[in-house]
Amino acid sequence: MPAARFDESGRKVRLSDISTDPPDGVTKEEAANRFESLNQEMFRLQELMWGARLNSVLVVLQGRDAAGKDGSIKHVVGALNPRGVNVVSFGVPTTEEREHDFLWRVHRHAPRRGEFAIFNRSHYEDVLVARVHDLVPKPLWKARYGHISDFEELLAEHGTIVLKFFLHISKKEQEKRLLERERDPSTAWKLNVNDWKEREHWDDYTDAYESVIEKCSARHAPWYVVPADSKWYRNLVIAEAVTAAMRPYKQAWLDKLDADGAEGRRALAEHRRGHGGREED
Ligand code: ATP
Repeated sequence: MPAARFDESGRKVRLSDISTDPPDGVTKEEAANRFESLNQEMFRLQELMWGARLNSVLVVLQGRDAAGKDGSIKHVVGALNPRGVNVVSFGVPTTEEREHDFLWRVHRHAPRRGEFAIFNRSHYEDVLVARVHDLVPKPLWKARYGHISDFEELLAEHGTIVLKFFLHISKKEQEKRLLERERDPSTAWKLNVNDWKEREHWDDYTDAYESVIEKCSARHAPWYVVPADSKWYRNLVIAEAVTAAMRPYKQAWLDKLDADGAEGRRALAEHRRGHGGREED
């Protein structure tokens, strides 16, 4: 899958070098078939992870307005058993949140073992919007790259599979989507004058995203730059990345489920022996 994957810190990224379009040769029909089989695999892996309780998954979705965060959530969650999924949206911090450190509101939503958490925006806003709009002094937001990297390392040490997606759209595609929202009564509720204002800071956001990806990429918490002008390709790339990240854990989850099953059988056999081999009434 040609999505740009960044898994080491210090590697420079230029978003303008990465296409927002699907690569040549990938057809929508092939993508639909692949997407379907990935979704089935992801569902099975989720069931194993849920039972084994060794790991969790954190999916962070970032992108400019109208980049497709909501649509991506719908597709990831649609493939999963909702029992084990928690979607959290991070908007402008409340007074209480602002009066704590910037990770306070985020950490409590980290997934527990067995579960998925999907973040619609995240702690990265504190080095994106906070930087672009000078919401805090520069030394403060600069120090946050280190705090974020340490935080994600902590989550990974606890068994969380951390995956971060930047939904990469072109300026033209954003304009098209924002105008469509105006025209279509069924999506007009999404209209927000702020989206047009933020668009004026397009280049500042580009710089901010490039810094984030350069400074906060790690093997245990990679960034993916997802070509997102076509929704079907965006969904495929995310499904591919999530499934590929879970796959290596499959055997450990099966082993744990086997061991738990053996333990359950042993306890049951002991219980029955205690009752002289009879079932309780
Ligand atoms: P979205 O565009 O994410 O689908 P939305 O436009 O409906 O959602 P909200 O969910 O109300 O808006 O809030 C998103 C807004 O909150 C964005 O403008 C974002 O920059 C801002 N925001 C999120 N986190 C922070 C933060 N830590 N500091 C300041 N602003 C933040």
